[in-house]
Amino acid sequence: GPLLAIESSCDETACAILAPDGSVLAQRLVSQDAHAEFGGVVPEIAARAHLALLPDLARRTLQDATLSPADVAAVAASVGPGLIGGLVVGTNFAKGLAIALGRPFIAVNHIEAHALSARLPGVVEGGAAFPFLLLLASGGHCQCLAVEGVGRYRRLGGTIDDAAGEAFDKVAKMLGLGWPGGPALEKLASEGDPKAFALPRPLKGREGCDFSFSGLKTAIARQIAPYGSEPLPRTVAADLAASFQQAVSDVVADRVSNALAMMDGPTLLVAAGGVAANKTLRARLTEVAERHGLRFAAPPLALCTDNAVMVGWAALETCAEAARLGLPALDDMQFRPRPRWPLAEMAERFEV
Ligand code: ATP
Ligand code: MG
Ligand code: FE
Repeated sequence: GPLLAIESSCDETACAILAPDGSVLAQRLVSQDAHAEFGGVVPEIAARAHLALLPDLARRTLQDATLSPADVAAVAASVGPGLIGGLVVGTNFAKGLAIALGRPFIAVNHIEAHALSARLPGVVEGGAAFPFLLLLASGGHCQCLAVEGVGRYRRLGGTIDDAAGEAFDKVAKMLGLGWPGGPALEKLASEGDPKAFALPRPLKGREGCDFSFSGLKTAIARQIAPYGSEPLPRTVAADLAASFQQAVSDVVADRVSNALAMMDGPTLLVAAGGVAANKTLRARLTEVAERHGLRFAAPPLALCTDNAVMVGWAALETCAEAARLGLPALDDMQFRPRPRWPLAEMAERFEV
């Protein structure tokens, strides 16, 4: 029967219902707008918003799928990593529903859900076979993951300071744009000259695939400083935006190229997370993939950013893998929300 999934690890409140084959029967998502005035996600506000939104969201999603709660065969939720308040709300909502229905609860690692989203039916033409490289670049994450199988992930490298989306958001703020800054910065960059400012390319050419973005942020601040409290001329802001976007794309392309070289026979390059929406970055990643004789795939934006469909899909893949290994059917009722939950620990659930 259908599986109902909940996502509440950050500032998206989402519910999805998936058929056992992964087809989406219904989904609803609310991107909380209460954080914009603070210029970033406020954990306490996020948790309260999840609490207020979830019951009605779940009821409406069931209605959209023309299902009643009794039709639900299993309930899944992101139990971590993420903001603890939201995780507690979503996990307990899902567990409560599962107990009331007498159905299993499936705990999902939010990052694993991003990693497996490329395998949702219809997302990548011909499917995403293991192993593939995932670049996860969002507001809270920036890392290269070798996705070798369900539960088998190797973190090849990641940011040593800011996440890519965080850097976009901070630079956008310096340029006087609203939050979240990524989309606004990309729009402004389209009017600017990417060669106007010679910005640094942190870690480019170095071994490995770690990232660093704080130096770029500082370099932008240095360019802006002479204007003091005057507003930046629009052409200057546009040139800075374009130069920044170019620098980030250059660095990410270099790091991802190294990550591909660190893998044994990758089949595909996949990008997920909100930053994967960036067209300049996508173009660069397409080049990198081609140079390695691979395809580049980015799931549609709605699947790249936080959503419940990927949570449901990860739950289905996890259950299928347990069944394949001959393990007893999963029921994670004892799992507690985990603000940190390293992917390296995911293999444990398949150990006998
Ligand atoms: P998490 O890190 O927990 O997944 P998040 O809410 O920070 O959660 P997403 O919702 O995946 O992450 O992505 C939001 C981030 O993506 C923001 O930092 C935003 O600025 C960035 N972003 C969105 N669109 C673009 C774009 N076109 N170019 C660059 N960055 C973008
Ligand atoms: Mg978000
Ligand atoms: Fe996420």
